[in-house]
Order: sequence, then C-alpha cells, then structure tokens
Amino acid sequence: ENTDTTGTESRPDPLTPVLTRRWQLDRSWSIDTYERTDGYTALRTALAAHPDQLINLVKDSGLRGRGGAGFPTGMKWSFIPQGPTGAGAKPKYLVINADEGEPGTCKDIPTMMADPHSLIEGCVITSYAIRANFCAIYVRGEALHCIRRLRRAVEEAYAKGYLGRDILGSGFDLDIVVHAGAGAYICGEETALLDSLEGRRGQPRLKPPFPATSGLYASPTVVNNVETIASVPDIVAGGSAWFRTMGTERSPGPKIYSLSGHVERPGQYEAPLGTTLRELLELAGGMKDGIPLKFWTPGGSSTPLFTAEHLDVPLDFEGAAAAGSMLGTTAVQIFNETVSVPWAVMKWTEFYKHESCGKCTPCREGTYWLVQILERMVHGEGTPEDVDTMLDICDNILGRSFCALGDGATSPITSAIKYFRQEFLDLIAAQPAVARPEQLADLT
Ligand code: NAD
Ligand code: SF4
Repeated sequence: ENTDTTGTESRPDPLTPVLTRRWQLDRSWSIDTYERTDGYTALRTALAAHPDQLINLVKDSGLRGRGGAGFPTGMKWSFIPQGPTGAGAKPKYLVINADEGEPGTCKDIPTMMADPHSLIEGCVITSYAIRANFCAIYVRGEALHCIRRLRRAVEEAYAKGYLGRDILGSGFDLDIVVHAGAGAYICGEETALLDSLEGRRGQPRLKPPFPATSGLYASPTVVNNVETIASVPDIVAGGSAWFRTMGTERSPGPKIYSLSGHVERPGQYEAPLGTTLRELLELAGGMKDGIPLKFWTPGGSSTPLFTAEHLDVPLDFEGAAAAGSMLGTTAVQIFNETVSVPWAVMKWTEFYKHESCGKCTPCREGTYWLVQILERMVHGEGTPEDVDTMLDICDNILGRSFCALGDGATSPITSAIKYFRQEFLDLIAAQPAVARPEQLADLT
C-alpha cells in the first residue's frame, strides 16, 4: 500500500488486485479457500445491516454496471419497489447475466472459474438488499465447465448455511439456481435473457418497462453482470470510501481488462478504471514481436475502434466516450499492422448477422446487406460506391433497431471507415471495377 505524503490518507497500490486476488491460490474455487481468505465475512456484516443501508452503500461507492453499459448499480437496486412483502405482493428477483458473449469478452467466465464464491456471496448480499428470495445465474451454455463449477460452489454454500432457509440465523431465505443458456448471443440482452429463462425463445422485449419494475415473470427484477455483483462483498467489507480510492471520480473501482490479439502476454489484467492501453501494454509485455499497433477495441466489437492515436485514452466510462468510443466490456482486442481492417470488419459483421434475432427489420436486413458488401469487397469484387453504401445502411440501423445488437453491429464499420477509409478504397481500387451482376442483384 502507498501512504499519502500528508499521512492522512492511505491509498491502495493501483496494481494491488482486488477482484482477482484469489485467482492464483491453491484450489481458489473451493469454499475452504474462500473462507480462509475472509470469504463470507461481508455477508455477516450485510445481514446485520438494514437492506436500505446496503443500497445506499453501493450508491455511495459509485459502482457502475460491468456488463458494458455502466449504469449505476445502487440506483438500479433502488428502483425495485419496496412495498409490502406479504401475500399478494409480487416477488422480487435477482438475475445474474453470465451470458458473456461479446466478441473478445472473457472476464466473467474466468471469474466464476477461479472465484465462484465471490459471485455467490455478492448474490446473497444483493438479494438481501433488494428483498429477493430467488436468484438465477444465467450462464452461457457453451461454458459447461463453468456451469459445473458454479453448481458445485452453490452446493457448498447451501451445505454451510450461506444459502437456503434462515441464512446464518438472520431469518433471510435465498435459493440460487444456475441456469444454462443455449448459446445465442442475443440472450445476453437482459430482456431476451429473461424470456429465455421463462422458457420462451430469447428475443428482446420493449423497454420501458425496465426489468427493475417488470422483469422475470413480470415481477421487479435486478439484472446485473457477474463482475458487478462479485464486487459487492469487497464494497461491504471495505466501505464506499475505500472503493473510491481506485478508479476515477465518476468511474470508481477496479476493473478486469481482457487483452487479446497481438500482444506478448494475452490474458486478464486487473487495474483501476481509467488505466490506459499504453499502461496495459506495459503489463502485458508490449506488442507481440514488436510489430506496431494498428487498431483496437476498448470494450468488445460493439464499441467503436480506436487506433495508435488513442494509446493514452483513460479507459473509464467518460474517457472512452470523450474519445469517440465506449468502455463496453473492457475486452481490449489488439491488432497489429499486418491485419487488414476490411477483413476484420467483415468477420465481426458476419458474427452480428449470424446472431441477429430477426425481430426487427433494420438489424435483420441491414446486417445481411453489410455482409454481402464486405464479403464481395474482401474477395476482390468491391465497387467504388460500397463505402458510402455501407455508411448509408449503418445510418438506417443505428437508432432504428429494437435493441443494442443492431447499433453495436454498426460500430466496427463506421469507426473503421472513419479511420481507415483509404484502406477500403485502396482495396476496391485494386479490384475489377464492377462486381458480378448476380451479386449486385442480391443487394436490390
Ligand atoms: P442500457 O443502457 O439500455 O441499460 C443498462 C442497464 O440499465 C440495464 O440493466 C437497464 O435495465 C438499466 N436501465 C437503463 N435505464 C433505466 C431506467 N430508466 N430505469 C431502470 N433501469 C434502467 O444498455 P443495455 O442494452 O442493457 O446494454 C448495452 C451494453 O451491453 C453495451 O454497452 C455493450 O457494451 C454491452 N454488451 C455486453 C455483452 C457481454 O457479453 N457482456 C454483450 C453485448 C453487449
Ligand atoms: Fe433482434 Fe437485431 Fe432487432 Fe435486436 S436489433 S431485436 S437482435 S433483430
């Protein structure tokens, strides 16, 4: 720990791990290791407090949603109506969005694999705060290893009295169910997730009403991301002022940045919000083989691309937005000078086209047209009009789609054209001037 020179304040070292501090311990996922490292002590503190005190504590901490959007967590909890809880009142629910699917995003599955009890303890504290007696953890279906580990951890917590009836003699009851999704990206959208959890085909619902007022089975529901809820026990144990010693004024706390691509040591790097890519690259050993950086995503492919000009942008909610992108999921995908921008954009767009749920026309048709154009461009048959046609299609998707998937699909394209327009034009210029007539027909 660094001590402030005035001696009045002690600030944690920016690289002292919080969320990942147990990850390297022997059998870090077991309840024994968790209890040995102060696990479940915050739960005792929480159960001794009034639920409203916990909501206020999380509000004061400034914790913001770690799923990508950064909505203030304490405020979301406070939207849950706190009327009578007896017969006739609607139940309240906590749903954990563990359907991590954004390209490049890989922080929640490692968190649940290495330290599942931090999430479970966070679930119990959150449920107590919002007066919920049922919590579902909705995990991406492909992550079978993670589902097994979580279910085992939930069993351990029941056996020790941290879940079930009358938790630690407090009179509070909570059941947790670990639910496996079926591998659709759209089920990470919170309302599609709720539909899927209810047994229906996962498609987004109209918002408002937001889940906080009408969520699972039309009852008040808090939907929060894994990393958000895994942060809660430390906030209860350390206090809101401690939490605010990390990060920035409006984006406090630690964050897990997932570095992938052309970097010497890809992986998860915990650092305070506001850390720059230049600093993250130092931790990760720099660019792979020293080949210079060309472009990168600050938080998954739904966030507009950055370039080498943006190495010093503070990666917090405000910093990323002020520089023209978004913090998103802090999935930092790094590409060196050898990568073709149109090719990378084509791969991302193919993903969005495949995952579009088809409910609304701008996204369903728009992503299809964009893939048609990008594929023929990359395969040697682009036309000079293609760049502006893509921008026009993006303009008709952005803000006109039913959910964030459609908007997100336009980000790689519009930002790539903003920074690398000439590369698209050079690719097209190196090709025959006119595409095959049958491909043009596909676009009409
Ligand atoms: P959003 O801004 O619409 O909502 C964020 C959260 O705040 C939601 O839980 C919503 O219910 C709540 N909220 C917002 N306004 C509210 C209000 N007035 N009253 C009550 N609650 C309110 O964003 P979103 O569509 O939920 O998420 C978009 C983000 O998801 C993107 O920024 C993207 O980065 C991220 N994303 C993440 C993944 C992943 O794998 N983690 C995948 C795709 C997208
Ligand atoms: Fe479905 Fe795409 Fe429309 Fe979202 S934007 S509702 S994923 S078609």
